[in-house]
Amino acid sequence: MNELFWLLLPVAALSGWYLGRRGLRSRATSRADSLPDAYFQGLNFLLNEQPDKAIEVFTRMAEVDADTVEIHFALGSLFRRRGEVERAIRIHQNLIARPSLTRRQRVQALLALGEDYLRAGLLDRAETLFQEVVESGEHVIEALTHLLDLYQQEKEWERARTVAERLGGLTGQSMDKMVAQFYCEQAEQAVAAGDRNRARNLIKRALGSDSSCVRASLLQGQLEQQFGNYRAALKALQRVRYQDVDYLPEVLRPMEACYRELGRTQDYLAYLQAVQQDYHGVSLLLAIAEQIQQRDGDQAAAQYLEQQLRKRPSVRGLNRLLELSLVAEENQVGTDGVLPVLQELFDGLLAGKPTYRCGRCGFAGRTLYWHCPSCRGWSTIKPIHGIEGE
Ligand SMILES: [Zn+2]
Repeated sequence: MNELFWLLLPVAALSGWYLGRRGLRSRATSRADSLPDAYFQGLNFLLNEQPDKAIEVFTRMAEVDADTVEIHFALGSLFRRRGEVERAIRIHQNLIARPSLTRRQRVQALLALGEDYLRAGLLDRAETLFQEVVESGEHVIEALTHLLDLYQQEKEWERARTVAERLGGLTGQSMDKMVAQFYCEQAEQAVAAGDRNRARNLIKRALGSDSSCVRASLLQGQLEQQFGNYRAALKALQRVRYQDVDYLPEVLRPMEACYRELGRTQDYLAYLQAVQQDYHGVSLLLAIAEQIQQRDGDQAAAQYLEQQLRKRPSVRGLNRLLELSLVAEENQVGTDGVLPVLQELFDGLLAGKPTYRCGRCGFAGRTLYWHCPSCRGWSTIKPIHGIEGE
């Protein structure tokens, strides 16, 4: 249905033109015209989801009325949407070559050809055309939107940011969250290149653009931890709880390491217990159980988990409880229990389960992507919650 809607757009434009033209003609001449039948026939094919036949009809119309720019635009657009990019490119190139085009029509043809190139993966050519369209002052928002898409595909973050900011200014729609992600991408590049100061600076700009940017806090925590600035790292990581508590599982490991380095594991346990007010995922329970185990032993940890799992059952929690029980069992001589079997079954249950899911398109996996590989949303992928999740 969605595809049909897009197919109908050029036809809608065409019908507006045609009716206007027909009005003019009927005043000028009384000649009977066969085109309206063809037009409605084509429209009918589209409505019945037979775009091939529609294209046939519109092609015939284009042959009868070769000067008509609008029919060619409609056809080019139909071909592109059908995936016949080469034919679309040919039509739009022919249009651009016409000396009789108005300025606006020429820009429209440049934009359409740019879209063809984008679809064909010819990104350099597409970029040049979209820039030309932006400079013309016509169809600016459409061209900038395509450029934004293109620079993200090419991972040209600096340019992507400039375009996003310009687009935000024109549409009034905030691009701050996206801009913060672009800064984070650049910060990761700086980290990889060993340029710590540049990375720090970019992270600061990310947070300046979007103060709730979890990714920037995680990056900052990672960077400071790497250079032994554990206090600074903790400060960054503790921010995540307030930015978006769903990402809490991501900070637990590095946070534990920082507290340990500072010799403050008791403070870590206190922190985890305080966070329980805001976060109810099993990762937090497991982290607390781990701290109890280190301080008071296996049995205390098992007891704590059992208590908590009665309130909030979870597969990962039960699995950990089994592990703890198994250790206790092995310590008793002569026990030949069912626990090892259960443990194996649980491991099988958890193996290969996705741990992250995109809230927008449902894409799931075991890696946290900030840019969804499926729907290309930013920060739409989060740790999975619930009985089988985090
Ligand atoms: Zn997605």
